[in-house]
Amino acid sequence: MPTLETDTTSKTRGDTASSMRALFKHHAGEGLEYDPARALPAGSTGKPGVCGPNDVLIRVHKAGVCGTDRHIWEWDKWAAGRIPVGIVTGHEFIGVIEKMGSAVEHLEIGQRVSGEGHISSMTDYNALTGNAHIARDMQIIGVDREGCFADYLMMPQSNVWPVHDDISDDHAAIFDPLGNAVHTVMSAGVSAKSVLITGAGIIGLMAVTVAKAAGATRVYVTDMDPRRLAHAKQLGADDAFDVREGDGWIKEIDGVTPGDGVDVLLEMSGAPKGIDAGFRALRSGGTAALLGIPSEPPAFDLTNHIVFKGATVIGVNGRRMWQTWFQAEQFLLSGRIDLDPIITHVLPLSDYAKAFSLMQSGEGIKVVLDINGPTR
Ligand SMILES: [Zn+2]
Repeated sequence: MPTLETDTTSKTRGDTASSMRALFKHHAGEGLEYDPARALPAGSTGKPGVCGPNDVLIRVHKAGVCGTDRHIWEWDKWAAGRIPVGIVTGHEFIGVIEKMGSAVEHLEIGQRVSGEGHISSMTDYNALTGNAHIARDMQIIGVDREGCFADYLMMPQSNVWPVHDDISDDHAAIFDPLGNAVHTVMSAGVSAKSVLITGAGIIGLMAVTVAKAAGATRVYVTDMDPRRLAHAKQLGADDAFDVREGDGWIKEIDGVTPGDGVDVLLEMSGAPKGIDAGFRALRSGGTAALLGIPSEPPAFDLTNHIVFKGATVIGVNGRRMWQTWFQAEQFLLSGRIDLDPIITHVLPLSDYAKAFSLMQSGEGIKVVLDINGPTR
């Protein structure tokens, strides 16, 4: 196989292929296309596969398929307004360092890594004051720039996360959504509190096991899919309610919590009805952490749900760098959280269409694409 022109200042593992397999957004419409011979991603050099001083080229082994990827696949309003046609999608991964620039420190060729997909120049106010995850110039891999549904991914060293030896490839591949769940649970604070999770999608389900591990006394879940509600119970939810059967569950929760409602709402549905019901079930003085994204600005009873309730409302975006990552790692290493029931399918990259249809049908919860086999 021909090899690429190599940046003489970078360290490399050996013969990096000159092209790669990738899934990319081929048009402004539904689906993704498989390219068997795409150019490698470019770092700060602008040359395919060539690292600038701070760049790390990662060979991707496994990648998680996210709800965000489904939006991109289905080309909904949000995707049409945000995603540049032509980019490689995907943002959750584990891989191995293939090449790196001359200024990269504390990382090694061949090391197992994942990475924070929110990339910033780290120069604005938020980045400089410990809030890089909401920096103004933040770009997300697989959303604003080349992503990880491919053999190779390029990112700056400051975004690379070394994966602990005792964490499996499948778990490491989904650190990104796990981080969303951990960030939401930890910002609300759930210790010795009752918690309601509205929406049992991937992150909602992860939040069940994380909230339990973080000391929640009771965890309730709502959704419209009985399979997801069953998963929630398997992961430790004390009760799970099908919202298609009405609002009776709100009274039921009232009856077992001391404060006329739950202490904490973790809103993961983004559905106007879910948001409304969640706030009705929240006690006065309670805390709501919002992660779900409504497709349009929702009608919302701000007066009664927030003002008169004296509620504290927290918006959650991404993961804190790197606090959330350390918390997720420690939860996994301590054995206090269980992700296995959430990973329902691992499929080869060539089965990508099946991966998306499994998600659309609700049969798959977390689908992981196997791109280059195990990392070790
Ligand atoms: Zn994701």
